[in-house]
Amino acid sequence: KKNVFQFKVVLLGESAVGKSSMVFRFVNNTFSEKIESTIGATYINYELDLGDYFAKLQIWDTAGQERYHSLTPMYYRGAKGAFIVYDVTSYDSFERAKDWVNELRSEGSPDAKIMLIGNKIDLERIVKKEEVMEYVKKEQLLYHECSAKSGVGVRDAFFELTKSIPIE
Ligand code: GDP
Ligand code: MG
Repeated sequence: KKNVFQFKVVLLGESAVGKSSMVFRFVNNTFSEKIESTIGATYINYELDLGDYFAKLQIWDTAGQERYHSLTPMYYRGAKGAFIVYDVTSYDSFERAKDWVNELRSEGSPDAKIMLIGNKIDLERIVKKEEVMEYVKKEQLLYHECSAKSGVGVRDAFFELTKSIPIE
């Protein structure tokens, strides 16, 4: 019988980068234009079979709006993994993602695995990939690109982040 390990995983990033759409794509394998904007945060449980063990994820989807900012620390506290999402068509969202990396490093679990995500790759990219890769290397982050809309990359990102989390 395989062991089951439970992990809290959180999605952070500016509003409208596609966090909720990523979770929706991952859990339901589909895309909806009509996802309600998240208020505060919601979580969903999802179990992944990683071969040697099961990972029971508690996925926290937060609201990126500044007005909810003061609520967020309790959502990332204790998280073993974090997706910090930006939109590849928005430099602002990339800059905001860097702020999240800093905040998580200073306020979150020091051993949390952080994966930067460039979402919306079905659209024309504005944020230069070389710039992102330089940043990712400097900060030693995991990195993945995806499209919640087309579905490409989403499953891989969840699996890769989950597999990177050490089990006791
Ligand atoms: P959140 O605020 O970060 O949770 O973002 P949402 O998931 O609510 O998405 C914000 C907007 O971006 C919505 O209109 C989505 O339909 C759209 N969106 C999300 N992911 C993608 C994607 O991969 N490609 C495109 N083209 N649009 C997306
Ligand atoms: Mg949302």
